[in-house]
Amino acid sequence: MAIGALFDGSLRCGFTPLFFFMMIRIGIGTDLHRMTEGRPLVLGGIQIPYHAGPLGHSDGDVLIHALCDALLGAMALQDIGYHFPDTDPAYRNADSRLLLQEVMGMMHEKGWQPVNVDATVHLERPKLRPFIDEIRTSLASVTGMAVDEISVKAKTGEQTGPVGEGAAIEAVVVCLIQRVSVD
Ligand code: MG
Repeated sequence: MAIGALFDGSLRCGFTPLFFFMMIRIGIGTDLHRMTEGRPLVLGGIQIPYHAGPLGHSDGDVLIHALCDALLGAMALQDIGYHFPDTDPAYRNADSRLLLQEVMGMMHEKGWQPVNVDATVHLERPKLRPFIDEIRTSLASVTGMAVDEISVKAKTGEQTGPVGEGAAIEAVVVCLIQRVSVD
């Protein structure tokens, strides 16, 4: 059933505010990988020139992994490890954009769509600023969202802890989703 029809009904019944809030959900996702010499550095589906990258079963794209977890979390559909286990050879060196595409398919099936995404990548080197817009455009093309609905920020670890010492890369993503149809 289309949400518009339900919304008309809710207006007549006088419980619009409660109904409205039930149609929006929030999700959070985090991911961390160890940085390893000689691995490609892929973030949001974009390969960034650098001599080291995340160690992982797939391409180690922490940004997409955290985004998938945020979207799955908002739908209460477990996590990326549940849907795409790292014991499955099918995901060995997999392009994480394919995982995100599958999560978008689940969203569509369940009647949800993303409203906005706010992401932070924690990485000491290299500086991500020159690549941020390309990363946003890449995520927009996979999710079908507008670029201005996707925020990607970058922070260093101030030379302390695993991120600051260049040993790890981490991402934290928050997303809002809205229901567009119901069963
Ligand atoms: Mg991961």
